[in-house]
Amino acid sequence: MFENKNQRTELEILGEFGLIRHLAKSIHNTHPQTNKGIGDDCAVIDRGDVFEVVTTDMLLEGVHFDLSYCPLKHLGYKSVMVNLSDIYAMNGKPSHIVVSLGLSNRISLEAVEELYEGMNLACERHGVDLVGGDTSASRSGLVINVTAIGAVPKDKIAYRSGAGEHDLICVSGDLGAAYMGLQVLNREKKIFLENPNIQPDLTGSDYVVERQLKPDARKDIIERLASENIVPTSMIDISDGLASELFHICTASEKGCRIYEEKIPVDVETARHAEEMNINPTVAALSGGEDYELLFTIRQSDFEKVKDMKGVSIIGHITAASAGLALVDKSEHETPLKAQGWDGIINV
Ligand code: ADP
Ligand code: MG
Repeated sequence: MFENKNQRTELEILGEFGLIRHLAKSIHNTHPQTNKGIGDDCAVIDRGDVFEVVTTDMLLEGVHFDLSYCPLKHLGYKSVMVNLSDIYAMNGKPSHIVVSLGLSNRISLEAVEELYEGMNLACERHGVDLVGGDTSASRSGLVINVTAIGAVPKDKIAYRSGAGEHDLICVSGDLGAAYMGLQVLNREKKIFLENPNIQPDLTGSDYVVERQLKPDARKDIIERLASENIVPTSMIDISDGLASELFHICTASEKGCRIYEEKIPVDVETARHAEEMNINPTVAALSGGEDYELLFTIRQSDFEKVKDMKGVSIIGHITAASAGLALVDKSEHETPLKAQGWDGIINV
């Protein structure tokens, strides 16, 4: 199955997506019901009258979260949301989750209760039942793995691969805030470690910090699109940054794209923090990640329905693959997009 068994190849050379592509080559699914395996936001299983969609995401202490500034209730909430976001990214409706925990001896009963308060709140808000999981001791910090299951009517499913030339590229909400929130939290932690008498100052950072600690999956956008009878031609959720997700859509759809810098939605608080920290706000939106907004394409014929839709911005269009992927700035200068979404071997 795999060649070169005696060789040692560092995972760094492959990167996260390279590794997944490599592993995918060795996997040969046999069920005719397996409609989509590796390669989209969810696996898709044909259940006769509907498609079932399944996704899993793992959060590790020290990699994805830092317990020194991440309240456990928020962490529980976020660990469910990041999974629900992948179900919505298929245009699906989540119904169930299972939760596995690796617990270190630093975690008390009260801490686990807090974590579950957040998970229960997320489930309640999205109409999801928590139906099982697994619990183990962990020697390397807290580990949280959530698997979510949902369903989509067969004619409503949105894959990454369906974008057509001239389709309009849309994003929900605003981008870059979660990344700026992380920068603020890291800055305050550093100040606190250097001088424990100085209390963290998060005034004026409420929005960006909340976007980092407590993201909300965009159930509302999926419902709004459905109420307008719009099925996106392709969709993905923004976990790694706009640029990386555009690459996924364009690669899967064998297309290119043009997006317009001035159309990328960035909140004023995000822009202010970015400027203060000498970060270009567009770079925060393109490469920041963890926004858990939806990136999708629609047919031009749906333009009238979407142009004034609450919480949706049209940021560009799909082109032929030969045109590549590019960002057009205010002076109409084109810069090729780089997929910068990857941050080490572990999925961020
Ligand atoms: P997302 O960011 O939407 O959660 P990922 O980038 O984590 O998606 O994963 C991309 C695809 O690779 C998905 O289809 C996922 O199921 C698959 N995948 C990720 N890790 C593994 C693995 N270790 N084995 C098999 N498939 C994997
Ligand atoms: Mg995703």
